Amino acid sequence: MKTANILYVVVPCYKEEEVLPETAARLADKLGGMIADGRVAPQSRIMFVNDGSSDKTWEIICNLHEGNPLFAGVNLSRNRGHQNALLAGLMVAKDHADITISMDADLQDDIDAMDEMLAKHEAGADIVYGVRSKRETDSFFKRRTALGFYKIMRTMGIEIVSNHADYRLMSKRALEGLAQFREVNLFLRGIVPMIGYNTAIVHYERAERFAGETKYPLKKMLALAFEGITSLTIRPIRIISMLGLLTFLISAGFLVYVIIDFARGGTVAGWTSTIASIWGIGGLQLLAIGIIGEYIGKIYLEVKQRPRYIIEQTLISQLINQPELNLDKEAKL
Ligand code: UDP
Ligand code: MG
Repeated sequence: MKTANILYVVVPCYKEEEVLPETAARLADKLGGMIADGRVAPQSRIMFVNDGSSDKTWEIICNLHEGNPLFAGVNLSRNRGHQNALLAGLMVAKDHADITISMDADLQDDIDAMDEMLAKHEAGADIVYGVRSKRETDSFFKRRTALGFYKIMRTMGIEIVSNHADYRLMSKRALEGLAQFREVNLFLRGIVPMIGYNTAIVHYERAERFAGETKYPLKKMLALAFEGITSLTIRPIRIISMLGLLTFLISAGFLVYVIIDFARGGTVAGWTSTIASIWGIGGLQLLAIGIIGEYIGKIYLEVKQRPRYIIEQTLISQLINQPELNLDKEAKL
């Protein structure tokens, strides 16, 4: 029989002191059970990545690690955002694990879906996407904006799995593929499908945030959507070029009309249409320059090749876990 895989569950955490103890207990229960069943290797870990939280998040992670070798921790030097924090965790995990599963700290992703993810991996998938089947627990607003987001992404020609956040299983070689994407403008959900290999989907129901508040307010959500579009496609620039061409054709037709009108002795009327078109074209030009500028900004950020994250400290115990320890929920929280 094949030896069991080492699984690392990677969880980015930003100011999650309210949910972390419970998340840790539930994950330890789950992973402990999987180790006891022999489905994953005893060297498997739950890895929390602290994304520069200003609260007690890192302290909690340190205590968890001390109390139970099942817990590992990565501390970033400052807040770098969800995507970078997740990448940092995955890149550290890649050197220790055979497979990783990434999920949020707030228990919104059904942790029992991990079993099915593992099964799909064993059946040959290198990447298994967790897709939520319902969004009833999200607010009406969040649901609408999310749906609009997927729609815009698709019309922009971006291959993205609908209703998949960052709950996914990735094999070591998929992670090695991911490591080769050096872009600073990071939108993992758009990049992961580019890696290739066999993929599969597992459906689960997304629960409500267990505690604490969303770390993705509207502003960050819009930023992520914008990042997703401009870092993955140049279609907006093409749309602008087409718009420019269209405007040019219309104005050329208009010019012909004006000349004919002039030859017929028509007077200079239509101040309104002149002003309207000046403002119209002016607005379009500003928009076009703005969008092109956005891409130039991206190029600027990419050429500088700044590090995407800096790791301050990594806590990974070399101990093989003792199953009875794993199930000890009170483990020094
Ligand atoms: N997160 C992070 N850095 C940030 C913002 C969020 O690591 O700057 C983490 C957060 O701790 C959580 C995950 O990203 O584990 C998703 O955030 P959240 O649950 O607040 O987003 P939502 O589910 O509301 O979209
Ligand atoms: Mg959440």
